[in-house]
Amino acid sequence: MIIDHATIVTPCGHSACKGDAMSRLTTIKDGCVIVRDGLIEYVGPRADAQDLMAEYKKDKSDISFIDAEGRALLPGFVDSHTHLIFGGFRPDEFEWRLKGDTYMSIMQRGGGIQSTVNATRATSEDELVNRAQWFLDRMSSMGVTTVEAKSGYGLDAETEEKMLRAIRRLADKDGQPIRIVSTFLGAHAVPKEYAGHTDEYVDLIIKEMLPRFREMADCCDIFCEKNVFEIEESRRLLKAAKDMGYKLKLHADEIVQLGGAELAAELGALSADHLLHVSDAGVEAMAKAGVVATLLPLTAFTLKEPYAPARKFIDAGAAVALATDLNPGSCFSGSIPLSIALACIYMKMSIEETITALTLNGAAAIGRADEIGSIEKGKRADFVMLNTDNINILPYYVGMNCVKTTIFGGRVVCENP
Ligand SMILES: [Zn+2]
Repeated sequence: MIIDHATIVTPCGHSACKGDAMSRLTTIKDGCVIVRDGLIEYVGPRADAQDLMAEYKKDKSDISFIDAEGRALLPGFVDSHTHLIFGGFRPDEFEWRLKGDTYMSIMQRGGGIQSTVNATRATSEDELVNRAQWFLDRMSSMGVTTVEAKSGYGLDAETEEKMLRAIRRLADKDGQPIRIVSTFLGAHAVPKEYAGHTDEYVDLIIKEMLPRFREMADCCDIFCEKNVFEIEESRRLLKAAKDMGYKLKLHADEIVQLGGAELAAELGALSADHLLHVSDAGVEAMAKAGVVATLLPLTAFTLKEPYAPARKFIDAGAAVALATDLNPGSCFSGSIPLSIALACIYMKMSIEETITALTLNGAAAIGRADEIGSIEKGKRADFVMLNTDNINILPYYVGMNCVKTTIFGGRVVCENP
């Protein structure tokens, strides 16, 4: 594949961009990208690529060629935090919330995470796969080329395995337009069977689930929150997961300030996510330890909570990633365009910072910054082509999709009209 006459805009590097570096994008006007076997072979000014292009055209007659006509070409977006696999939907609960019902009263009326757990346990693996594919196709149209997908609506070994198998089937599916990275989140909530016995459930995860799912998931995540899995329980579970070779992620400091950010730093996690109520010490600790702060503005928006302090993280020299948190409860949206707009408007991130957050830093948040997240020689040929040369369109066209073409592994997987 050759993409010619592109305005190439990309962060650079094989690890997360931190602090000030997040806003330093490389821009190449009238640029060209040459792709061979799904990998980037050349990126740079088209004027310097004439010999290589001629040689490439000689080798391959059926070459796929895109004239970008000056449009902006970015690395494919990485949505590094989603709950893609789930049974059922919770629209009634959303309406109760609009009318002022509290979290506890919604739980009592049969809503909340347990209702998704019940529905997921009752849904077949085939159906989970089909439903998730619907979301993946829509993500692809918004420029997403890599997505992280969590288990966590089974809360028993059998259903957690069903979810992880569904993720693997989707990842391995022929023609899938998105790379899928799998995370085991058995510690998403304490299941009703273990109410009041959190320690016993943590034991079950450590002794049975973690060893059983080691080959099925890259990362292990936990909902570290007051009255769910508190710091000591989280530390015990995550240490066991780390010893078995899992990469670590945490839902941290979302509802109250518990010290999840500090724990993520202590354990060398890839990322701590949410962080609406992170302490200043937690920000500093994460910056120092190189833990990516994955912020999820759509969730704060949906729940009418204060946005996470993106500027504090960036100004402290930390790396920030943005992700959608797509899930059937607190945030039923996978909108990349709205995430960008909210991050710029309410979290005071610059447009350049949001691009780094959705590409290279998203890749770092799932441990893949060495192969994706930027347009550089040797990396995978995952790109988003916008319908204009101007990246300011991203937040300016609020909540609207301005992706023209999505390219995954050197293959056009979505062409928007
Ligand atoms: Zn989540």
